[in-house]
Order: sequence, then structure tokens, then C-alpha cells
Amino acid sequence: MSSSVVQRPLTGLPDYAGDGIYLHVRGERYIDCASGTFNVSLGYNAPGIIAALHEQLDRVAHLSSEFTRDKSAEIFELMRDELPPHIGAFWLRDVTGSGANEAAIRIAQKATGRSDIFSLFLSHHGQTVGTTGISGNAFRQRSFTLPFANSVKIPAPDCGNCFYGQVADRCGMLCARRLEDFVEYASSGQVAAVVVEPVMGNGGNIVPPPDYYRVLRETCDKLGVLIIADEVQTGFGRTGSFFASTGYAAALRPDIITFAKGAGGVGIPVAGVLMRPELDVLESWEHSSTSGANPLALVALEETIRYIKDHRVLDNVAAVAGPLHRGLLALAAAFPSMSGVRGVGLMQAFDLPTSVDVEQFIALGRQHGLILRGSRYGFGRTVKVRPPLIITREQVDELLTRLHDTLRSYE
Ligand code: PMP
Repeated sequence: MSSSVVQRPLTGLPDYAGDGIYLHVRGERYIDCASGTFNVSLGYNAPGIIAALHEQLDRVAHLSSEFTRDKSAEIFELMRDELPPHIGAFWLRDVTGSGANEAAIRIAQKATGRSDIFSLFLSHHGQTVGTTGISGNAFRQRSFTLPFANSVKIPAPDCGNCFYGQVADRCGMLCARRLEDFVEYASSGQVAAVVVEPVMGNGGNIVPPPDYYRVLRETCDKLGVLIIADEVQTGFGRTGSFFASTGYAAALRPDIITFAKGAGGVGIPVAGVLMRPELDVLESWEHSSTSGANPLALVALEETIRYIKDHRVLDNVAAVAGPLHRGLLALAAAFPSMSGVRGVGLMQAFDLPTSVDVEQFIALGRQHGLILRGSRYGFGRTVKVRPPLIITREQVDELLTRLHDTLRSYE
């Protein structure tokens, strides 16, 4: 009997196309305020990156990471002047943020010989069993057995809803200072690291007060606890500096930084870990994946770094973030259903009243040509506004006009 295998030329997904900050879906054109899944940081067709990916595909689509080690090291050098100066080593074996955070946990545990990981209420660190276990979004965990026994959740710098009932600026930064109590009463006493998102993404775009990072660093130094900055959302320019840890959150001085999402520029999966040189403790077989450091991922990462530098993307974020933030504030002043505008760089958000069905609002945005995403927890009902970092000043105005029309038709 002859084989029934059918071979036909692939035609891709003809209903979908990307063009800068715009996504075309079945004949409709949207401004993508979610940058894909917060990963298409340089827009859908950043010219040099797409061409380099095509070229690589023509050569070879997969290589085991044993062949790409030198290339990974070269890319680390290319990124070096964008990193906090104390960072001196990297681990580039992942394609997801979850995987990079798993690697960071392993590094922290192996380097310190300690077991426990502190993480924040409302945090999100991934979808694997381990990273779900350390995430502070309990609703995602309820259907499963506690997946990570050495996880200890600590209060977040969530000033709108302070765990300690304090008022911002007069709070003594208890959420960063009182970790000793958690070591004493809630942990095994063996705490390896605390994991923090410099701006808490899925938890509701929570922006900690600037002093939070300094006090957390001081506290961790006192307790001998490492800091892991989960920069999966904040990295690669999103908050206006290459990493939040080199800008808004510089006082955090993290021992370990994880990245993913925007590192692939046009949406190619690539993820990694950056760390102090003395934390470079993993053997190659202790953490890797089939597709880790694959050629397409490395090309995307290298070209993304080059693009950000060559096209002065951080300057663009600095130029457009203010007008976007001020435009959102003006809309909040005009529309009672919009409040709580907050954000750093192009990681902005606002709240809707709790009575509002955020999914309905997002559907209405779609009718006005906007792709928006909500948070299902955090302050009230949060709508995130995080367009690609290449958005122009004129396109910011277009986005605000469409949001205005969405709000008008909503109210
Ligand atoms: N950390 C943060 C802060 C995230 O926002 C996410 C994804 N939303 C992850 C980790 C997990 O990344 P991935 O989905 O690539 O596994």
C-alpha cells in the first residue's frame, strides 16, 4: 500500500500579518497595545531582524547548544555595556521566561546551598510547575498540589493596597524591611533568594516606589539572601532603560537577572539568565532544553540588541513615554471609568471600576482598532498599554484617539 502522507507547500497563516505596531487580522487593522504577548518589542517586521532570520533559516534551523556556545558568549559581550557593571556571566539555554526563572532558582540554590525562594504576593514568574509554585497569583495554583514546597510569599510593594496598612512615603518600607520575620517564622531558615519583578507585570502593573529597591537590597545584604530580578517583561527597553535594573530599579543591584519576551525583538522565543561571575555554577547538563540557544533564537537576540543600539530605541521610548502617560492621565480626567494611570516607560496601565467587565471593554477596544490586554488580578481591573518600543509620537496620538473613542462608546 502506498503511503498516505500528504505533502503540499505551506502557505503560512494568510489571515494574519504584522506591520510595525499594527497587526492585521482577517482584514482588520489594529494598533497592538500588547506588543503580541509583550514580546514583539520592536514591532512585527523590524527590517534587519527579519532578513537575518531568513538568512539563518536558509543555512540551518537547528544546532545543539554545544555548537553555539561561542556565539552565545559573543552575544553576551555585545550586551555587556547595557548591563549593571557587577554582572559578569550568563546562561543562555532557554526559550521561555519560565525556563529562565527555573535556571535562576537552580543557580541560587546551588550557589548558596540553601533551599527557600521568597517571592511577592501578586507576582507571576511562569507556567511550569516550579515557577507556578513561586508565583504569588494563588488563583493559578488552586487546582494543583503545592508544586514548590520551599516557596515563601512575602508582601508586595503594592502601595494602593498595602499589606501593612501603611500610607505611601510614611511607611518605613516595611514590605522590604521586614523580611527577617519571614525568614524566622515562614521559611526553613535557609533562604537562597528573593525573586522580584522590577515593575510587577501581570499583577497589575504595580510600580514600586523608587526607595523600595534600595531598602530591599540593604535587607537582603543583611540576611545574605540573593536577589533575582525577573526582567522577562521589563527587560530589553520596555521601561526606558535596557533593563529596569539599569534605570528605574538600579538600586536593586540584582545578583541574577532573567530575560525572555522582548529579547526576541519580533517575537522569536529566546530567554536567558545574567549573573555575578561567582554565580556561574551550573554544569551544562544541570539545566538545558532541546531548543536552548538554537540558531534562530541567537540570531533574533543578537539582532535585537543591535537594533536597540543602532536605532536608538531607548531614546525613542524616552521621547514617547511621557506623551503616552500624560495622554492617559488626560483621558482619566475626562472619563470617570478610567483611573489609576501608572507605569514606567512603555509599560503603562490604568484601572476600570470593579463593576466593569474588563473583557467587554477589551472587546470594545477591538472595535475601535486597539488590541488591549487586561490583568485578572491586582488593583481592581487593570488594562495594560504596552505598544512596541518603536511607536512614533504620531502613533501615540492615534492610540490615544482610539482609546478616547473606546471610552466614549463605553460610557
Ligand atoms: N516572568 C514574567 C514576569 C512574565 O510576565 C512571564 C510571562 N508572562 C514569565 C516570567 C514566563 O514567561 P514565558 O511565558 O515565556 O514562560
